[in-house]
Order: sequence, then C-alpha cells, then structure tokens
Amino acid sequence: MCGIVGYLGTQRAAPLLLEGLGRLEHRGYDSAGVAVLAGTGIRVAKRAGRVRDLADGLPRRFAGKVGIGHTRWATHGPANDVNAHPHTDAKGLVAVVHNGIIDNAAALRDELADTGVDLASDTDTEVLAHLVAASEAETLEAKVAEALGRVEGTYGVAVLHVDFPDRLVVARNGSPLIIGVGDKEMHVASDLAALVRYTTTVAHLDDGEMATLTPTGFTTYRIGAGGIAATDRRAAPVDIDPEAYDAGEHASYMHKEIAEQPAAAERVLRGRLDERFGTSHLGGLNLDARELRAIRRVKILGCGSAYYVGQMGAMLVEELARVPADAEAASEFRYRNPIIEPDTLYVAVSQSGETVDTLLAVQEIRRKGGRVIGLVNVVGSAIAREVDGGIYLHAGPEVAVASTKALTNMFLGFAMLALQLGRVRDLSIADGRRLIAGLEALPRQIEEVLAGEERLEALARKLADAPSLFFVGRVRGFPVAREGAQKFKEISYRHAEAYQTSELKHGPLALISPDVPTVAIVPGDELVERNVGALHEIAARGGPLVVVTHEDVAMRGLECDRVVVPRSERELDPILLTVPLQLLAYHAALHLGHDIDKPRNLAKSVTVE
Ligand code: GLU
Repeated sequence: MCGIVGYLGTQRAAPLLLEGLGRLEHRGYDSAGVAVLAGTGIRVAKRAGRVRDLADGLPRRFAGKVGIGHTRWATHGPANDVNAHPHTDAKGLVAVVHNGIIDNAAALRDELADTGVDLASDTDTEVLAHLVAASEAETLEAKVAEALGRVEGTYGVAVLHVDFPDRLVVARNGSPLIIGVGDKEMHVASDLAALVRYTTTVAHLDDGEMATLTPTGFTTYRIGAGGIAATDRRAAPVDIDPEAYDAGEHASYMHKEIAEQPAAAERVLRGRLDERFGTSHLGGLNLDARELRAIRRVKILGCGSAYYVGQMGAMLVEELARVPADAEAASEFRYRNPIIEPDTLYVAVSQSGETVDTLLAVQEIRRKGGRVIGLVNVVGSAIAREVDGGIYLHAGPEVAVASTKALTNMFLGFAMLALQLGRVRDLSIADGRRLIAGLEALPRQIEEVLAGEERLEALARKLADAPSLFFVGRVRGFPVAREGAQKFKEISYRHAEAYQTSELKHGPLALISPDVPTVAIVPGDELVERNVGALHEIAARGGPLVVVTHEDVAMRGLECDRVVVPRSERELDPILLTVPLQLLAYHAALHLGHDIDKPRNLAKSVTVE
C-alpha cells in the first residue's frame, strides 16, 4: 500500500524516481508525486492519477540529483493533486513523503493553525513538513527526530531539506523502508521491487530507526527519549533475480503468478519432506518435538485471503494433528482483549510480512507472553523479524494485488505444519507417507488444473455478466468458497458472497434466480451426497450452476457446468479446488475490461490499520 522512493547520487533523480514509482504501482495507489532538490530549491510535481500521467506532465527542466517520490493511498482527505505527496512547509524549505497514518494529526493541525501556519492540504502528512521546518535543532537528523517525537501513529518517511542538500533523512515506524546501496549513489524505497533494478545490496530499517543517506553511504540511528543514538545496521546482499519482478510474456502479473504456481509449490516443499519418517522438517519453527507435543491449541491470524487460507490451515491441523485449531481475522483480534495461552501456538500469515493488522496482533500476543510463528513470503519483513520462528513461503515476488501463488504456498506451509504436529502425536507413519505422496504430486496436479484455462475462460464470461453471485462449499470446501468469492470481488467488482452450502436453505435461497449464478465446491468427499442434493435445490429455482468437483462425482442429472479437478488426498483437496477459482476471477475481470493487477481501492500490502 502506498510507496516511497528516494535517490541521491550522480544521476538526475526524477527519471529514477519515476521508474521506481512505476515498480510500486501494482501495490495500489491513487496519486503520485516527486520532489527534487535543485540549485534553486525544492521543486515538486504531484497529481492524482497514474505515475504515467505524472511523468507526462513533468516540466522538462526538473533537474536535481537528490529526490523523493511517493504513490499515495489516501487515508486523510480525498485523492486530489493538493493532497498528493510530497508535502512542503509554507516556504518550501522541506519536502516530506509519508506512508502510514498520523493518529494525532487533527491536534497537530490545530496547534499549527494557532501559530499562524496555513495548511495547504487535508492530509495528516503535511504537519510533518511544518514541524521539521519549524524545528530549531541544528542537524536535519535532530529536526526530523524532534518532529517525529511529536507524532503518534505509523510512518515510513523520507525528508528533503534545502539547507542540507547532501542528504536524505528517512525513518520508519510500522511502515517498511529499505535502503539500497549503489555505486556512488544511494536509494531508498518502501519495497524491494523499486530497488532491485539498481542494487541488491540492501538494509532494512527497524521500527523506531532512522537513517541518513548521502551519495557515498548511510548511517542509522535509533530515536530514543534522550535524542538519537547510532545503531550499526549494515547492508547485505539479497538473493533476488530482478527478472522475477517482470511480467514477461504474460498480459498481467496476476496471470504470470497463477502460471508460476507449480514451480512455486515445488520450492516451498523442497527439502522439507521426510519420506523415511513420514513427516516434514520445518527448522525455522525453532520448536523441538517436546515443545510441539506440548501445544494444546493452534490459533491462526491473517487478513483477507490469508485469513481464508488460515481457515483451510486450521482444518488441516485439526484433521492431521487432532489439535483444536481455528483462524481469526487478525484485524479484529487484538480489540477483543484476547486470552493468550502459553500452550497455544499462534500463527501469523501474511504474504508481505508487513500487513499492519497482523503485525499488531503479533505484538499483542508477544506482549502477553504468547509464542507466535509466521507464514510469510517476504524474507526480512517486519512480521518475519518479529516472530519466534516460522515458515518462509518461497513463492518469489508476488506483485499482483490479488494473491495467488503466495496463497497456494501458505496452504502448503500449513499442510507441512499440520503433518509435523500430527507426527509427534497420533498420525501414523503410513498416513504421513500418504500425505507426503499427495504433497509431492500437487505441483503436477496444479499444472493440470491450469491446462483447463480455456474452459474456465468461457465459464468466466458467462459469470461476469451476473451482477451478483454465490460461492458455496461445506467444511473443507467452505474456505475455498470464501477465497473464490474474495478473488472474484477483488478484481471483477461483482458482488460475490460465500456461504456454507448447508446454510443456503436457512436464508439465501430466497435470492436464487436465473440471474444469480452459484459456483459450488463439491469434492467427492463424505459430504458429496448432501452437497449434490443442495445443488438440486438451487437448480429447481432456476439458479445457474458452475460446479468445481472431481471426475467421479455423480451429479444425478443436475443441469450445470462442471469444472473437474484432479483428486489429491482428501485433506489436500482444497488447494486444487481453489486454483480454478483464480482463473474464473481473472477471466471475468479481463472480460469486463478491468485493470487486473491494480484493482480499484485496493493495495497489495495493507500497511495502515
Ligand atoms: N496518511 C497519508 C495520507 O493520507 C499517507 C497515506 C499513504 O500511506 O499513502 O496522505
């Protein structure tokens, strides 16, 4: 969500900043801007709309070798040109870009207004520019620290000041910032995606840390009660192929990421399955067999798709380990004063590892002495660093807002966790081996599902024209339905509601009509007879049906469109039932002419609460 870039060095800053912002576009934003420090002072260009529009409208002479840029996801004030970042003080001495939310902005705005400051925008961010400009501290670092000392809330910030033309000062509290070290030049960005073209030698800032960047290096500090104290953060190389951030031959990142799933699934499983003992090895959990045995309950926390896959994970844990498990929306968790138990294993799930709602849940649990592990894709991210242990998802960079390959790998992460928890309890070695064989077959089976794309495209066209639709499933199939509806909503903007098939007759059946199609998840499991029965009730009311199912499931004369997926072990079936729903959503959105990778109002990693 929202993005920051910064540059200083020997080249013109503006083109590099714009290129960097372009790399952050897919995270979702509503306006963009850049500021550079030139001989004559700070120059700012900003506007609502796309980075492309900003670049097209940039004055020809926009020179300067130091600069900052931003893509905004509005929280305070509408998305218009004035509210776009960077923000400056009245004299244009200071320019600031900010990700996050300043909670006490209203009070600070009033205070500034009382001292005669004219606030130009509706944003919370602007107060920072005025506070830095008004500070009488000597160094830019001290000015920024003083301003941030007044602020309650979350931020990643980058600050330019005309009196300190040789440097950029950046700071982080709850919103990521990564410093990239180049050759006689330095970069900073809120996401690795904006850096990898220039450098793969990076340093992640911690919460409460700030840094000064000069063309030749950087220094870090911690902001404390008594001022700022140096920290010794060093840059280190990251093992990332810049190509991974390109869509290549695919029309969109989402399509590329859907197609990458077989390879991504292989990566997350690699080296972690132990055929001999019918178990998995997840070294990163930092839990030995005795500690694993002592776990009495598993509580999974995630937001959006990570929450739905968490529900799939909870079922895997209950089925394989017979340990009570459930999933909860991380965004709600800490506000109900949750009871944290020492023998519960808490699992935080987040692709980016920066989802603020999930991060705050992790902090609440740890504050109360609970043990948390993470299922995270981005190495070195905030959640990955905050947890007691975890499972990296190795899905590779996921750029599209709608999660696909990361979600699949989350499921596989849960399957391996459940297997290991099961095998220190009552899951037999034979069952363990059965599941390992099932897991190993999944990448090829996912490929098989993807091979059915043409048919899914045809079905998606039919569904796309319905203003509203249901996704239904039972037990293992219900979180699949929830994820299917979520994906459909996110990118097709059609109303899609997930329901337990069993609950239809308790209410929503009233809505079924020839205009309201239902996508039903019907694996050939112990509930198949009842599921097919419920579908007949839908058909009897004229409701069109797309049924995602297994080859051998008898529909008993039901009129429907069938999508057949290969069978896995029954516990692992949910992921193969999920994959076709990604393609349904994708092709519906494509048919409707939507911007697949940048769905309206949404952002890739949600770094505001
Ligand atoms: N709260 C700031 C605003 O509304 C920054 C939002 C963002 O993170 O982009 O302008």
